[in-house]
Amino acid sequence: MSPDLSDDYMTVQLLAAGLARIQMDQYRALWSNPSPGTQAVGLPSAWNAGVNRLWWRAMESGMTQLPTHMDVFSWCTRPLGQWPLALEITESDRWLILVENGRPSAFADEAARLAMAKDPAAELVENRSFELLMSTADRNADRESQVQENYVELRSFLIDNAVASDLDLAALLRRFPAKNSHGQPWVKEWFLHAYQHRPVSGTTVLEVCDGCDNLLPGGQAHCGTPGCVGKATHRNVETMSELYVQRMPIRRFFHDPGLAERRLFDAVRPVLGKRMHPWWCMDAVDLAIDFDGTGRMGEGEWWAADVKDHASAALLGRNFRWDRRADARHRFLVLAQHRFDSRGYVGDLEAAMDGRVHDVEIVGEEDFVHAVLRRASERG
Ligand SMILES: [Zn+2]
Repeated sequence: MSPDLSDDYMTVQLLAAGLARIQMDQYRALWSNPSPGTQAVGLPSAWNAGVNRLWWRAMESGMTQLPTHMDVFSWCTRPLGQWPLALEITESDRWLILVENGRPSAFADEAARLAMAKDPAAELVENRSFELLMSTADRNADRESQVQENYVELRSFLIDNAVASDLDLAALLRRFPAKNSHGQPWVKEWFLHAYQHRPVSGTTVLEVCDGCDNLLPGGQAHCGTPGCVGKATHRNVETMSELYVQRMPIRRFFHDPGLAERRLFDAVRPVLGKRMHPWWCMDAVDLAIDFDGTGRMGEGEWWAADVKDHASAALLGRNFRWDRRADARHRFLVLAQHRFDSRGYVGDLEAAMDGRVHDVEIVGEEDFVHAVLRRASERG
């Protein structure tokens, strides 16, 4: 018997990584073969490993018939708490679903990412995007502080633009002109990696969500963005001839979780001004505050915060690490408000962290903003 069989989170992560791989393979097959249905594709090893663990579980619990791969696929469309096999997961994770509308859910993406982050062979779209962002920021700077400013500007672009036009791209090209060895501007490579183009002309009317700005394709009623309660609205987008829509992995990794980060920045920026540092040290932490204006973390009163919007409190808790570079006096793990407010979430997060991370205070978005503003006014 597998020694860590009781760890059902590992099983869920393996299944999620398998689903992510299946989806990647489907895209590749669609690209290279006009009739992908005729291709026999083996199941990814992560998926097989996950199903294997379920078989052990099934035998252990005395099930007479082992679930088939198709059974497990259909389980994935139901909340984890309703699987025919009882999984050992926390109460706040029982409603999570791996497959929604026929594709891996935001939770599945998150679980897969945590599993694949330990696999050096995994080619994660967001890793490449991150590399290109760093290169663009770096090659367009002539001093260190400029790199960080570029980084913040490019990262903000992804949060502010779920949809972009060729006019936006042209503005980026003017702003970040440095070219790679093939004569291609770095910023263009980064942009085309993050966005998928769509030909249009002139002004286009798009149906988008007024809460998160994501596109609502084909009469879809809700955007599916975690925590978003926005409604459908129309937006005019000015283009020359191309429209660009953010690719799903970029949306899920940078844009959607970035909404909580942006809310935070917007709430404290008017008071803190230059004492606030978004994504300090290229994202060592999401927000650093230099109350004394020393310019050096560790000297004077610094606060630092990591902002998280994860579906599963247990997975977040098990994987959370504080970046050692962020040597701040006060350290916070700030939860997007809708996570902080959901029942059992904070308790399950604390249980999963199990005293591993010291001196990091868990707070909700709104409480954090109040604490920062209070401290800023005390200090005058
Ligand atoms: Zn929305």
